[in-house]
Amino acid sequence: MKYEAVIGLEVHAQMLTDTKIFCGCSTKFGSEPNTQTCPICIGMPGVLPVLNKKALEFAIRTGLATNCKISSYSRFARKNYFYPDLPKGYQISQYELPICEHGFLEIVVDSEIKKIGITRIHMEEDAGKNIHEGGGNYSFVDLNRTGVPLMEIVSEPDLRSPKEAAEYMKKLRTILRYLGVCDGNMEQGSLRCDANVSIRPVGQKEYGTRAEVKNINSFKFVEKALEYEIKRQIKVIEEGGKIIQETRLWDSDRGITESMRSKEEAHDYRYFPEPDLVPMTVEQKWIDEIKSSLPELPDVKRERFVSEFGLPEYDADLLTSEKSIAGWFEASVKAGGQAKAVSNWMMGELMKLLNEENKTFEECALRPSQLADMLKLLDKGTISGKIAKTVFEEMYKTGKDAEAIVKEKGLVQVSDEEAIEKAVDEIIAKSPKEVERFKAGDEKLLGFFVGQVMKTMKGKANPQMLNEILKKKLS
Ligand code: ADP
Ligand code: MG
Ligand code: ZN
Repeated sequence: MKYEAVIGLEVHAQMLTDTKIFCGCSTKFGSEPNTQTCPICIGMPGVLPVLNKKALEFAIRTGLATNCKISSYSRFARKNYFYPDLPKGYQISQYELPICEHGFLEIVVDSEIKKIGITRIHMEEDAGKNIHEGGGNYSFVDLNRTGVPLMEIVSEPDLRSPKEAAEYMKKLRTILRYLGVCDGNMEQGSLRCDANVSIRPVGQKEYGTRAEVKNINSFKFVEKALEYEIKRQIKVIEEGGKIIQETRLWDSDRGITESMRSKEEAHDYRYFPEPDLVPMTVEQKWIDEIKSSLPELPDVKRERFVSEFGLPEYDADLLTSEKSIAGWFEASVKAGGQAKAVSNWMMGELMKLLNEENKTFEECALRPSQLADMLKLLDKGTISGKIAKTVFEEMYKTGKDAEAIVKEKGLVQVSDEEAIEKAVDEIIAKSPKEVERFKAGDEKLLGFFVGQVMKTMKGKANPQMLNEILKKKLS
């Protein structure tokens, strides 16, 4: 029997607002525990929440970018449960009237575009954090995160493989980062993913019973956890067992999922409309304003990079993976760099140097125009391709312009025929054996001669001229 997986993701995204969703406390990450709290976010009785308009705007931005319908009327609900990191005994969330519904995202799998439905996007507040350290029989509670605004983005069960799920997550993350509504850091928990997964025999219409896998905290694990869970479910079925609806925890150290609670033990949250917050009415005018302020999104940008700059799909894909990378590229082209050359240097040398320092394009000190200027020197033949690498590295490290570096270090390419001939003659005179072998047909030795001459000329010989002169002299 062949089985097919059915997957739907529930993604939580921490919004990049300066303040919390229902009070003015800071959302800054990494401060001393419990220094960013107030009576509202620690849930004192008698206090009243007030909605942060920015959080609502961010949710609408996300909804528009994912083709959702924005609700003109929506409201908050109380989700009741007890846990030490939730002092007021309920989480303010949205339930029957979320802010966004009926959207979709497009992902590319095996060179085919696939539409993945987005059921809903709703806003809610984050809970605090229990800290179990010190080894004693106790826990600490840090409420700095309590009340940080979240979006929950729920997909339809449209994903059919771990790879599709990973692609969907990547796409969603890229869009959230383009919009500036979430930093998308799964390792730090600002983007979290719960995966619902079931299997069914290929050809069957009905969905199987699903398990919800929690605690997937990196991109790598989205695929790994799902692969494991699908295999586990197939094994259960093939051994004559039944899948039970349950919540399972992904254990990344052991690479397995484990049962956390079954449906019977599931909470009844006793949702009801939040009485302390008025329902939200969103005017079309505001939605239109937000829509017109959206940045060019990655898919559109990628297609434009192909049509406008003639870039291969691969380059366009990579360069549009982050808004900052795309911006750097366009600025360099605007400064006179030839598109494909700019792309090559960015994807090769520049990304290598940035990676070595664990830096992003936002932190890149090299200016786009500096690359463009260096490419002009290369084009004019002032420097050779080989020297350009040295110049580029020097530019990156010192911040100096290419022209200054070339002058300072005397790196101008030698296109003087006599000078090259002289160097070639010297090498030929020094290498009678190699000359003999070359003449006897060992043409691979040309590389040896090029290398030797370049060495004596400190890499500055014009490579085309050198090649021609060598061939002439050796024939
Ligand atoms: P809950 O309220 O328990 O979280 P939902 O019906 O809202 O349940 O679904 C949550 C997620 O589970 C959604 O992403 C949805 O696409 C996914 N899902 C629903 N049914 C299945 C199924 N049979 N197999 C896999 N995923 C499913
Ligand atoms: Mg759920
Ligand atoms: Zn507060």
